[in-house]
Amino acid sequence: MKIAVTKRVPGLDEALKELPTDADVWVHSSETALERDELAEAVHDAHGVLVVGDRFDAELMDASPHLKVLSNYGVGVDNIDLDAAAARGIAVTNLPHEVTYSTAELAMALLLACVRRIPEADQFVRTHNPFSWTPTIIMGDNLQGKTIGIVGFGRIGQRVAKMAKAFDMRIVYYSRTRKRDVEETTGVGYLDLPDLLRRADVVSLHIPGGEDTKHLIGAPELAMMAPNAILVNLARGTVVDEEALADALEAGSIRAAGLDVFENEPAVNTKLTTLPNVVLTPHIGTTTWQAREAMTKGALANIVSTLWPEEAGQ
Ligand code: NAP
Repeated sequence: MKIAVTKRVPGLDEALKELPTDADVWVHSSETALERDELAEAVHDAHGVLVVGDRFDAELMDASPHLKVLSNYGVGVDNIDLDAAAARGIAVTNLPHEVTYSTAELAMALLLACVRRIPEADQFVRTHNPFSWTPTIIMGDNLQGKTIGIVGFGRIGQRVAKMAKAFDMRIVYYSRTRKRDVEETTGVGYLDLPDLLRRADVVSLHIPGGEDTKHLIGAPELAMMAPNAILVNLARGTVVDEEALADALEAGSIRAAGLDVFENEPAVNTKLTTLPNVVLTPHIGTTTWQAREAMTKGALANIVSTLWPEEAGQ
């Protein structure tokens, strides 16, 4: 059985030792993305592919006639044409548990960076040395007592809620399905999306990407948010109308945004890159050693359980 790994990932050499002895593995030698024709060539005879950030469509699947499993290196699978995979009997697996903490922690980091203006403060020290301290130097706000509105109350959204609780924030959520059991155990309240947007001091997005959620936050939704509100997006860039967001931030109709994902990723709206009230990170929600090593192990285990079900104890 042939396995192709489309980028080098942390912990790979150790994880590869756990593969069945008859596994024939090809690993792309670098961390940079393969061009489409190189990717097609690399996977054409593979039975399993560890997909690290690549787009995988019907054409690529047809060019790989032995393909049985696409093991996605992440939880979101909007980079893979799921209907095309299902039609060809190709299993698609993801990593629902390995990324929860690192992504939730970055949501809190971006929130803190926005509310305490950390990038501006850092820049200030570098450009004013020695700096002159005043009582209102880089004014911020406490999170304590503020309301966080979590959109998408799955694994990451619920983890953010636990972290926000430790900051003594009030927590409300909106999700496709109301979760009364979680409401009962955590005391977190449900609001529909317009109410959440009107009431939250911070809106934190944790829903999947794709057509269903495209521009869930557009100009009308941004207009519902309070002028002092902050938007944090660690979901997918497509969830937010980036042009409308840039306009709202420029006009000051919302206060700040912390963004890890972008509508036309890897390109970023250039207006966003010039505004001081935006904190930008290059899709690093899962870029911690702990998450990465767990992801590498998990992604290879997902291939093994499909290609060698007897080895995986199934
Ligand atoms: P999850 O456990 O599946 O949670 C997603 C939640 O969103 C679920 O509660 C879900 O449905 C809800 N939802 C789905 N569609 C919705 C819609 N149209 N409107 C409202 N709510 C909707 O997934 P997760 O592990 O928390 O991950 C969430 C997303 O985060 C991933 O899909 C991925 O795109 C993104 N992510 C980004 C990074 C990064 O590096 N920035 C890292 C990891 C994940 P129900 O309400 O029905 O339960």
